[in-house]
Amino acid sequence: MNKVLILGAGQLARMMELAGTPLNLDVKAFDVRTDKVVSPIYPDRIYGDLKDGITNADVITAEFEHVAHDVLAECELSNKLFPTSNAIKIGGDRRLEKALLKSCNVSNANHYFINNKGDFDKALKCLSLPIIFKTALDGYDGKGQWRLKSTDDADVIWQDMADFLTASQTSVEQGIVAEQMVPFDREVSLVGVRRINGDTAVYPLTENHHTNGILSVSVAATVNSQLQQQAGAVFKALADKLNYVGVLAIEFFQVGEQLLVNEIAPRVHNSGHWTQQGADTCQFENHLRAICDLPLGSTALIRPTAMINIIGEDSVPNEVLAIPSATIHWYNKGKRVGRKMGHINVSGDTELQLAEHLQTLAKILDKKAYPDLIDFAKNYL
Ligand code: ATP
Ligand code: MG
Ligand code: MG
Repeated sequence: MNKVLILGAGQLARMMELAGTPLNLDVKAFDVRTDKVVSPIYPDRIYGDLKDGITNADVITAEFEHVAHDVLAECELSNKLFPTSNAIKIGGDRRLEKALLKSCNVSNANHYFINNKGDFDKALKCLSLPIIFKTALDGYDGKGQWRLKSTDDADVIWQDMADFLTASQTSVEQGIVAEQMVPFDREVSLVGVRRINGDTAVYPLTENHHTNGILSVSVAATVNSQLQQQAGAVFKALADKLNYVGVLAIEFFQVGEQLLVNEIAPRVHNSGHWTQQGADTCQFENHLRAICDLPLGSTALIRPTAMINIIGEDSVPNEVLAIPSATIHWYNKGKRVGRKMGHINVSGDTELQLAEHLQTLAKILDKKAYPDLIDFAKNYL
């Protein structure tokens, strides 16, 4: 089992190829935009179409949850797809996701499903303001969301959502999920991994900061064991229920000492990129180990580490690399506003040293491009 096909050929596939090479894994990716199988690192190298990719692979996995259902069905027929198409579809449809959480008795924000104006009016009655509306399908990086803070704006927001629903061309019917805005203390996520035999391992909880709906900074360091246990129990419940194989990420809102699930991602996750330098085994390698039925690697934190996303920029000053322990990971993508182009991992032997390194980094980077980093660095510790 050493030939892996990934559905999706973005940065997550690229980092899986980088992590799989030392294990002699041959990693290819199916680029859904071109319908070609390519090398994630060298996308000019083409290895045929989806059929060829499926035939040549020993195992198939996905780097994103919005894979077309006919592609998932074709892969599942080969019995090589991990996690299952069911798990991937749940991650790509907020209605199925909420149903899964309910079936596992996992706490999440109060919500209401909307397909028409009648549902919208009911949602306004059932939930109190502020309310966040999210498209059921295809949302990522905070796209496809509306926030209602005052009833004065209800008509405008409904009109916008109604136009969106009419224009939406999806093979599965699009819809909207209305969610109570949660007054959270912070956002955290848990990245965990499950092997075919049911073995699981989870990384330490990661604290996440978003700018305009896009993850900007993640940090893994201080672990409150009560919260870690709570998150671990949710991971176990969901992963077992799905008979899950591979890395599964769970985003949470922390309210006091309670965790509410925001959403799940049936794949390696941006909030787990710190594991490349901060954990014994990174999430990309552990995902590959799980789907190839190899023993899982240790998920222990080896040193406090933060990850800073490079968004919409295609260069950073070279001095970044002069910070002890700083590494840069570029994705080889064309520059575009709001696009994730790469990330920086920075660690410290202690949290204090990590704080110092973050402050040095904040001084080097352009304030406009990293609006949250300065505050984060200042307030860290
Ligand atoms: P991702 O790129 O993580 O897949 P997404 O587009 O699926 O993002 P969400 O994670 O659902 O979107 O929402 C993006 C962000 O919006 C959250 O990380 C959080 O900051 C905020 N948010 C979403 N839902 C709520 C809520 N119910 N209450 C408060 N804040 C929320
Ligand atoms: Mg999402
Ligand atoms: Mg999210």
